[in-house]
Amino acid sequence: MEYLIKGKIYINNNFQKGYLLIKEGKISEIFFSKENPNYPLINYENYYILPGFIDSHIHFLELGLLNIFPDLSSISSLNDLFDVVADAQRNLSYFPFLIFFNFDLEKIKEKRYPQRKELDKIVDKKVLIILQIDGHTTILNTYGLKKIFNQNIISGMELNRYKEPTGILRGEANERVHKYYKKNLPDDIKILAFKEAEKNVIQNGITTLCAMVGEEEDNSYEILLDNLSSFKIEIIIFPQIKDINKVKNLGFKRIGGCILIDGSLSSYTAALYEPYEDNPHTSGILYFTDEELYNFLRKADNEGLQIAVHAIGDKAIGQVIKVYEKFLKENSLRHRIEHCEVLNQELIEKIKKLNLVVSCQPAFEYYWGGKGKLYEKRLGKRIEFTNPYRSLLNENIILVGGSDAPITPPNPLLGIYSALNHPNERERISLKEAIDLFTKNSAYGVFLEERKGEIKKGYDADLVVLERLPANDYDIKIKAVFKKGEIIWQVD
Ligand SMILES: [Zn+2]
Ligand SMILES: [Zn+2]
Repeated sequence: MEYLIKGKIYINNNFQKGYLLIKEGKISEIFFSKENPNYPLINYENYYILPGFIDSHIHFLELGLLNIFPDLSSISSLNDLFDVVADAQRNLSYFPFLIFFNFDLEKIKEKRYPQRKELDKIVDKKVLIILQIDGHTTILNTYGLKKIFNQNIISGMELNRYKEPTGILRGEANERVHKYYKKNLPDDIKILAFKEAEKNVIQNGITTLCAMVGEEEDNSYEILLDNLSSFKIEIIIFPQIKDINKVKNLGFKRIGGCILIDGSLSSYTAALYEPYEDNPHTSGILYFTDEELYNFLRKADNEGLQIAVHAIGDKAIGQVIKVYEKFLKENSLRHRIEHCEVLNQELIEKIKKLNLVVSCQPAFEYYWGGKGKLYEKRLGKRIEFTNPYRSLLNENIILVGGSDAPITPPNPLLGIYSALNHPNERERISLKEAIDLFTKNSAYGVFLEERKGEIKKGYDADLVVLERLPANDYDIKIKAVFKKGEIIWQVD
C-alpha cells in the first residue's frame, strides 16, 4: 500500500512541515508543498516525526524476564523484600528456581543486603537468586549456594567471621550465578521473555535494537537467531561469548556486548586508576590479563568480526585501548567500547586516534550523576569526567546511545533528555546531537547507516511520532510507531 504521512519531519537536523510518501516499506518521496491527492493521508499535522529509535545496548533476555519474574526496583526495605519473596514462593512454584531482579541497595532503608539465613526462613528447598540492579552483586539462599557451588568457596564470595559464605556474591562468584540461571532456564521461557521485551521496547518508539545475549554456557543468542523472523522490530544480535569459531559458524558479523573487562561502580568492581572515594581499599577488578585480552581482540579482528566489550572504569578503558594500540590501524570494523563511563582527556585522545565507537547510556547520568548520587560517592572529584559527551563529540568521536536495559528503562526519550540535561553542565549536548545518538549514530554503530537512522529517500520507513520533543521532560506521548511502513504501535 502507498500512503502519505503529514507532520513536522526531522530532516537534515531540522524539523520541517512536509509529507512522506511511503511505498513498500520505504520512504519513497519527501514533499514540502501541497499534498498529492492521489494517496491516502495519515495526518500528524501537530506532531514531530523522527526516525524510529535505535537502542544500541539492551539485555534483551533479562529485560523480558523482568516482565515474568518479580521486579524489586520499587521496594524500600528488607521487609518489603521478604514479602515479595514469600508471594513468589506461593505463586511461581512451577519455575525451576526463583529469581528476583533490580534489588537496589541505595533504596533500601537498612542499607544492607539480606543474609542467606533470613532468606532460608522463607525458601529453603529451592534455589533463590536476588540480583542487584547493576547485575554485579547477587544474593543466594543456603540451598542455592549448595546447588550452584557445591560447598566450594570461590573468589567473590563474601565470608562471615567463621569463614562461611554470607550468600552475598560479587566478581567471579556473581558471574557463576548468572551463568547458572541462564543455562537452566527452559527455551520456551526464553522465547516468552524475548517477546515480552519486544512489546516493552516498541511502546518506547524503538524499531531497531542491539540485543546483548548469551554467554559461554547460555546459547540464548542461538534461540533468538532461530526466531528472528518472528519479531516485528529489527534485532541485531551481539553474542556475548569468546568462542570466535562458533560465532563465525553461526554467521554472526560481530562478537561481544557486555563481555566484562571490569565490573561496575556500584559494586566497587569497575577498574579505576585510583582507589574508590568511599572504599579506599579497592580500585576494582580487571577480568582479563593484557595477554588474554590481546589474544581475544586480535583474533576476533583478524576474523573480520566487529567487537564490543564492557569497560566502565578508566583503568579498564585504558587496558582495552592499550591492547588495540598494539595492532589496530583504521578500525574499519567499528569496534566499540560499551559504557566507557570514567574517562580523562588522555583516554579521549586515544579513543579518537584509534577511531573507536563509544556506546553510551545517558540515563546513567540521570540516575547516578550529580550531587550526592552514586558517581560522586564512588568517584569524588572524578565526576568531572564521567560520561563526558560534549568532550567526546568535540573530538568527533562516534557516540551511539542505548539504555543497558533493564539497568535503565529502554526509553530513548529518557536517554535523549538525560544527555541534554547532563548534571555536569559542561558535558551537555544539544537536542539534535542527543537525537542522533539514538538514530543516525546508532545505525552507524551496526553498519546500518545506509538504510536507517535518518528520514531520507530510499530509507526504511521506520518512524516514531511524538507529541513533543524531550527537551524539558521525557514523559511524552508516543502517538505512533512505524516499522517498514506498518504501524506497530499507536494511541488515540
Ligand atoms: Zn555492561
Ligand atoms: Zn550491558
